[in-house]
Amino acid sequence: MDDNCIFCEIIAGEMAVEKIYEDDEVMAFNDINPQAPAHFLVIPKHHLAGPSEITSADEPLVGKVIHTATHLAKKLGLSNGFRMVINNGEDGGQTVYHFHVHVMGGRRMTWPPG
Ligand code: AMP
Ligand code: ZN
Repeated sequence: MDDNCIFCEIIAGEMAVEKIYEDDEVMAFNDINPQAPAHFLVIPKHHLAGPSEITSADEPLVGKVIHTATHLAKKLGLSNGFRMVINNGEDGGQTVYHFHVHVMGGRRMTWPPG
């Protein structure tokens, strides 16, 4: 738990979200500013600032976050495909420094994203 992290506050139940999945290691909820008809985030409950901070000890947890994201995408009906995005650092567009995978779908996603 990082006291200054909004995603840690969400995990602690101190901030309401549209939760779509939770177990003892990961949580998924709808993005507050959706960029596609379906847009949710999957996060580890353990605070990890971002991809650059991943250590070998985090590898199983990061794998579980990605597997949960694909499992939920399938469960939510994104059978025609979806986009997964992980932003890292300032130039990567990361604004929340708690590792998260974006899953977006429900429309044809453009490439390059700009
Ligand atoms: P990033 O720019 O990759 O760090 O993504 C952070 C994402 O978190 C953005 O898409 C925000 O819209 C989303 N976000 C920030 N605060 C909340 C919140 N309280 N509930 C749901 N999504 C949030
Ligand atoms: Zn956190």
